[in-house]
Amino acid sequence: MKSPIPALDKRNLYRFPWSLNDNPQGWVEVTDLCNLKCRGCYRQRLEGHKSFEAIKEEIQFLKKWRNVDNISLAGGEPILHPQIVDIVAYIAGQKLKPFMLGNGVAHNRQILIELRKAGLVGVGLHVDMHQNRPGWENKNELDLCALREQLADMVWEVGGISCNFNSTIYRDSLKYVPDLVKWAIRNSRKVQGYTFMTYRGALLDGSREYLVQGRNVHLDNESLGYALQQETREEISIMSTDVYAAIKAAVPEYAPSVYLGGTRKHTSFKWLDGVILCCNAKPLGSLGKKGMEFTQTAHHLIFGSYLIYLKKKSAGRIILLLSLVDAGVRAAFVRYIRNPLNIFRTVHSVGIGIVQAPDAQDGDVDMCESCPDITVFEGRLVNSCRLDEYRKFGDALTPSLTKGLGQAIVFAEVQAGTTDPVMAK
Ligand code: SF4
Repeated sequence: MKSPIPALDKRNLYRFPWSLNDNPQGWVEVTDLCNLKCRGCYRQRLEGHKSFEAIKEEIQFLKKWRNVDNISLAGGEPILHPQIVDIVAYIAGQKLKPFMLGNGVAHNRQILIELRKAGLVGVGLHVDMHQNRPGWENKNELDLCALREQLADMVWEVGGISCNFNSTIYRDSLKYVPDLVKWAIRNSRKVQGYTFMTYRGALLDGSREYLVQGRNVHLDNESLGYALQQETREEISIMSTDVYAAIKAAVPEYAPSVYLGGTRKHTSFKWLDGVILCCNAKPLGSLGKKGMEFTQTAHHLIFGSYLIYLKKKSAGRIILLLSLVDAGVRAAFVRYIRNPLNIFRTVHSVGIGIVQAPDAQDGDVDMCESCPDITVFEGRLVNSCRLDEYRKFGDALTPSLTKGLGQAIVFAEVQAGTTDPVMAK
């Protein structure tokens, strides 16, 4: 008989110590142009490529106000920016780690070599089955592992750049998550991280109205990429805990060590991160709460900022030293030394992230506490997942329940227990 999935308890997890003014990640969107059109994309095409001068200003702003350790280049598809190599070199010249998100369509060996020479430390590649990707239409997440393999091989051959993947998780792709984690473990020599983002969107079923500074705004399929008429409440309500449960059931060695809570709900796990230690393409165990706390604190003490991405591809066997302070690493260490052949093998770590983006409440939105993906918009800091609300309406939208109908739906949701399936009580 399978053992039950352990319930998550925030007391057994470390809370990322990040804040608005002391946060390792700076988020810079260099373009809103893209060569794909993913379902529910957060970004619309309004302005095209940002000027290099404007990008430099944003980087300086984030450096000054966020105490960042890295700059994540996002968009749109950042690799399409004609000065992407200069932008990466500029970031590296500021003694920050340049990291680039993207979808892999325009990635090739030549540009990656140039980016690595300019100082790029890693890429985060978004691949999933709702991207209408030319040549990969109607493929499921398992089929797409062939593409992930090609991309991981390309990054590996270029060398010196960490390779991370991310996928938006929809109702029909949730069942594939365990296989994606197993795929990452099998490829742990080449793949350093995998992040799952549960699909979120603004519901347009009449149960909510949307206000900007008290003014009612009409939303339809054209107004925001994530306001889609056809989406249902069920489609946009996958919880981080659902993803956790799916992975844990299939990979018992996996355990999250750290979380970010919500800005409104004390029960939320908006970010739920873990690090699986692997050897010979098999999982040994997971970094625990103490190891994560030690790493964040030591990095801040030594380098003056918190940590989100390593400069090297992997910490290697040195991570086993954390067994001095961490029970999870100790258990992994014991499994490692049980096999004498492991003395010839290194240890690879694969970060597993789960992100549950905005959850609409009545009159408010539960966001990620100490959001790491905050970006600069007209001299202020805003959540990048809601940037288009600022760009199109001048401010963030406030959802409020339409009287009667909305209340009835929320009541039914709570009765059905669909709000937090695996949450610690
Ligand atoms: S609140 Fe911040 S961290 Fe959370 S999904 Fe939005 S941008 Fe990302």
